[in-house]
Amino acid sequence: MLGQMMSQPLLISSLIEHAEKYHSGGQIFSVNTGGGVEDTTWGQVAANARRLASALTGLGLDPQARCGTIAWNNRRHLEIYFGVSGGGFVCHTINPRLFPEQLVYILNHAEDKVLFIDATFVPLVAAIRDKLEHLEHIILMEPTVGDAADKLPGIIAYDDLLAQGDAGYAWPDMDEYTASSLCYTSGTTGNPKGVLYSHRSTVLHSFGINLADSVAISAAEVVLPVVPMFHVNAWGAPYACAMVGARMVMPGPGLDGPSLVSLIDTYRVSLALGVPTIWLGLLGEAKKSGSKLASLKRTVVGGSACPPSMIKSFREEFGVDTIHAWGMTEMSPVGTVNRPLAKHADLPEAEQHHLRENQGRPVYGVELEILDDDGKPLPHDGKAQGDLVTRGHWILDAYFRKTTEETLTNGWFDTGDVATMDPDGYVTIKDRSKDIIKSGGEWISSVELENIAISHPALADAAVIGARHEKWDERPVLVAVKVEGQDPSEQDVLSVFEGKIAKWQVPDKVVFTDVLPRNATGKVLKRNLREEFGEVLIG
Ligand code: AMP
Repeated sequence: MLGQMMSQPLLISSLIEHAEKYHSGGQIFSVNTGGGVEDTTWGQVAANARRLASALTGLGLDPQARCGTIAWNNRRHLEIYFGVSGGGFVCHTINPRLFPEQLVYILNHAEDKVLFIDATFVPLVAAIRDKLEHLEHIILMEPTVGDAADKLPGIIAYDDLLAQGDAGYAWPDMDEYTASSLCYTSGTTGNPKGVLYSHRSTVLHSFGINLADSVAISAAEVVLPVVPMFHVNAWGAPYACAMVGARMVMPGPGLDGPSLVSLIDTYRVSLALGVPTIWLGLLGEAKKSGSKLASLKRTVVGGSACPPSMIKSFREEFGVDTIHAWGMTEMSPVGTVNRPLAKHADLPEAEQHHLRENQGRPVYGVELEILDDDGKPLPHDGKAQGDLVTRGHWILDAYFRKTTEETLTNGWFDTGDVATMDPDGYVTIKDRSKDIIKSGGEWISSVELENIAISHPALADAAVIGARHEKWDERPVLVAVKVEGQDPSEQDVLSVFEGKIAKWQVPDKVVFTDVLPRNATGKVLKRNLREEFGEVLIG
């Protein structure tokens, strides 16, 4: 016997429709690419999304045609998210920090027919335009094309395209498994790989984000997604915000400390999401300017391990609760979120704080397991560390244009991370499996050493790599960036590890460098560091 409940497909258009119906006046503040802040509403964004879907349909695109974006977090990008997917096309967000060859590869692999770009990226796109094999329309996300037409003949202004659309356009009905959006992994090795999300996975992921034990966005919140809309759909924040009608502040191109502090204080941001490096800039500026970040209640930090010293700084100096989360492009991205349990309320405060430092517990909808080298499950005792694998409602089944067999093992996706899990399900990410340091049969977590190193007041940035060693195979080497004006010695830097870890885990050497190499999503390129410093312990 079947249940007798209505069956409605889980569509992205239903999210914006809800925002339009019940949060029409909900404000959205958006920093323009050319400066200034625009004040708009969910109602206006929804109307423009309808216009856009109707105008794109008018261009005669095939269903599921890929529409790329190279753009900042702003109001038009939000409209594109909903208009493109809602209209039955695929919204393909592209990271402008990739190398031009990678951009060309991605745009051709995805077969993008339309490309929406912010004015900042006109030169970037003009330089590769001739190599984009499938591209038919370039849309400049501005009221008029101005002199962009000199560099990109035929470019259309976004507002002109919208003017051809119908705000009364009715969202089409679709199978909820239809493709809705596409993101490519940042590809530190080999070509980037595409992850093709569906309407259903996106809506379920939004529910997952908004659970109370997850990111818990609500209509009472003012949300600042600092994480770019080209990095795993800003971690799904635009969809989750529409689902509850949260007020949004879209930061545009300025992600530096002063710009962010000013946005938080001016628009009374209560919840901000971003990677650790962004918050380093923000904390530095807040301390310098004397801002108390008074409205800010929570920051969600993920993308790389959040150093405990940052969590402490937010809590003790600004009264801000840091929520440490872990995930990846292949997981839409949210996998785990660190939130306390009822039993933790009785623990001493220091212990409660310590528990908030790991990457958190699986959100409903995501299953996790840790496996040994033979693929057997390891105990969840907080000690055994193994390969972290996952499956669930918003985890990929196959990379774009690849098969499930090429992507999964026994129905699980291998995250490439090495982790422990405790009996309550709290996960601690020890490393990327390729970055973990294998020293004489023992494993040393580079993340753990980096977290300690960065708490040294004279260090601005730190990364630990496994350098080749004649006796131990590999030993940890700390690659450190000094705070401007400071000149700590190697011994002084190493003293920060004293009493915090076993002696055999302390790095053998510190090498100083000016800046750490990072990939397009801000992750340290350990491979480059290994190439440069991997032999410093030999001979
Ligand atoms: P991406 O798909 O570019 O978002 O990268 C995903 C990878 O980033 C994960 O597999 C992890 O290695 C790393 N990562 C994400 N969040 C965290 C976190 N909170 N702690 C440690 N590593 C993280």
